Amino acid sequence: MTTKINQITVSEINVEVVRKKIKNLHIGVYPPDGRVRVAAPTKMGMEAIRVAVIGKLGWIKKHQLKFANQERQSPREYVTGETHYFQGRRYRLNLQPHDGRPRIMACHGTIELHVPTDSSIEYREALLYAWYRKQLKEQVPELLAKWEQIIGVQAAAWGVKRMKTRWGTCNPTARRVWLNLELIKKPIHCLEYIIVHELVHLLERLHNDRFTTLMDQYMPSWRQYREELNRQPLGHEGWGE
Ligand SMILES: [Zn+2]
Repeated sequence: MTTKINQITVSEINVEVVRKKIKNLHIGVYPPDGRVRVAAPTKMGMEAIRVAVIGKLGWIKKHQLKFANQERQSPREYVTGETHYFQGRRYRLNLQPHDGRPRIMACHGTIELHVPTDSSIEYREALLYAWYRKQLKEQVPELLAKWEQIIGVQAAAWGVKRMKTRWGTCNPTARRVWLNLELIKKPIHCLEYIIVHELVHLLERLHNDRFTTLMDQYMPSWRQYREELNRQPLGHEGWGE
């Protein structure tokens, strides 16, 4: 079974339309940045969908504003007791005063940050993200090699960077894959799903029916992983693929 996904624009808002075997249309606004997704009955016409979305514009905008505010209102300070995520699990940050080389390690639900007592927020953030980056870069090669073999494609290069609105990107011409650093906060199967998604772009650059069919073939549970990626309340990460 394939799911057809369309993008429409209503009043300058991008709306993802998914067809499902349901009776009533359902509109959702999702964190962190207020993505709008409509689940519509299979037979419902595009015009009817558009009208339904227009009818809910006020509600949609209210929720988008709420997410935008949430994101601004919760700056991280990288202090003891703060919750941070690593590989899909919650960790409590614990600062240890330490002179000399900073150190960082994760064990038993705690991320230990050994830093000078006068370290700044920016310093601690940079330290944690450097560590995240190292952890992610250690995970990727094995998963990439595994899926390159299964799908029968090869990326020419890959890299990790912080992105605001995407979990990953692929340039099929250059065969280059970028992965969002925020993926290190997610369960490993979510990282794996994004890797598969980007590799499938080497076979099909568009998000069309062929793309969906290939995803279903290689990773039948991909929709579940996508929901998981976009559901977890993690604050600052982007969404999408
Ligand atoms: Zn994509």
